[in-house]
Amino acid sequence: SQEEKSVPKFEKLARNFNVKEKWMEDRGDSKENLHMVVVGHVDAGKSTLVGHLMVKMGLVSSKVLHKYEQESKKLGKQSFIYAWIMDETGEERNRGITMDIGFTQLETKTKTITILDAPGHKDFIPNMITGATQADVALLVVDATKGEFETGFESGGQTREHALLIRSLGVTQLGVVINKLDTVNWSEDRFNEIVALLKNFLKQAGFKDSDVCYVPCSGMSGENLTTRSNDPQFAWYQGPTLLDVLENFKCPERSIEKPFRMTVNDIYKGTGSGFCVSGQIETGALLVNDKVLVQPQNELATVKGLTIDELPIQTVYAGDSVSITLANFDIQNISIGSVLSDPSQPVAVTSKFECRIVVFNIQVPITKGFPVIVHCHNVMEPATIKRINAELNRSSGAVVKKKPRCLVKNTSALVVIETSRPICLEKYQDIKQLGRIMLRVSGSTIAAGLVTQIF
Ligand code: GDP
Repeated sequence: SQEEKSVPKFEKLARNFNVKEKWMEDRGDSKENLHMVVVGHVDAGKSTLVGHLMVKMGLVSSKVLHKYEQESKKLGKQSFIYAWIMDETGEERNRGITMDIGFTQLETKTKTITILDAPGHKDFIPNMITGATQADVALLVVDATKGEFETGFESGGQTREHALLIRSLGVTQLGVVINKLDTVNWSEDRFNEIVALLKNFLKQAGFKDSDVCYVPCSGMSGENLTTRSNDPQFAWYQGPTLLDVLENFKCPERSIEKPFRMTVNDIYKGTGSGFCVSGQIETGALLVNDKVLVQPQNELATVKGLTIDELPIQTVYAGDSVSITLANFDIQNISIGSVLSDPSQPVAVTSKFECRIVVFNIQVPITKGFPVIVHCHNVMEPATIKRINAELNRSSGAVVKKKPRCLVKNTSALVVIETSRPICLEKYQDIKQLGRIMLRVSGSTIAAGLVTQIF
């Protein structure tokens, strides 16, 4: 495209070291980071489960715990205490105490797990979708209660929907919590019955058996969250606890050896000369004095300083949230949603791309020319559906119909999207973080998917 042609040729970053070795030296002993989304039918017990897990892991202060214990006793609703803990973090989030995305962090022996859009909110479903677009792994919670599992698993229930959604957003590792097992007297038969049904379905949905782990729990009584139950009725189970499942998730490969990319989510005046941009390093590494290319504006800047949590640092890596002081650069030439890249291998800038999407529960079918807002990392840009190339089977991805006239709810498709201005993105297979998109119309998400081609 025109944009690409206008990108000048810049020299390679002056690096005379191996970035992996340097990372080992700087950060080799740091914990790995994993982003997890918790999904499942409403009332499956997601908030209770995560809240109780946090208490068991000692992540909730005794003050907060005590406060809710008193309140729940007063109301005679002791069972609500753990879900309330999740609401508390939600409230803090709304008051802006917790920055950026709503998250809760779990520290395990080997990793830091960020729970994206922790449940507990009324508007959990749309949030879940945002979370799912950033997730490395997912926890699917189902209610083992007679009749309840079946309701969630029927068509229209969220168990299937959520599983298909996260798989279509590229999530491959799944922990399945067969929850509320207390309501069926810890029945091994019930556990096996549900596992058999889910196994069959998840396989069709594209999950490998070896990437899915099933764990029986009670989020309420706390059985099997961090330690195995010592209830004799539960003696049949000798497998991993929920915490073991989290510990066993494989962390995504570190993207430090890929070309440098940082998404900009804030721009502000610094203390000295120059100004600062903050955001997330998606791939690669960056050093003080490096040059970066600001896209889509296509302008060079020099990195004068780097900080993490306001502490100066010489080198930053993929996964870090940082602030950069830029010099030799005009603040007019950068905006939220800009991407900083390695000048010798810059991010793609385009206004036309193909994606594989899943369509949600929409009222009005999507047709050619349909106006949407594209969300990709920190960018929001008006766009239209330029072409519908094919409708796909939601599980297998096989073409069901070429060039369909429209897309109705709960379908999957290959579409070409055109944005009103060029944006920075990448093919999902190249850089995941920049290749996941959501399509929204008047505040609700109508589809989400992965970038498959850039024109
Ligand atoms: P969410 O909508 O998935 O976040 O579900 P909640 O955590 O809000 O729980 C829904 C309801 O199920 C609440 O009334 C909880 O008290 C109850 N609940 C949650 N976990 C359990 C459990 O392990 N056993 C039983 N018996 N009830 C539970």
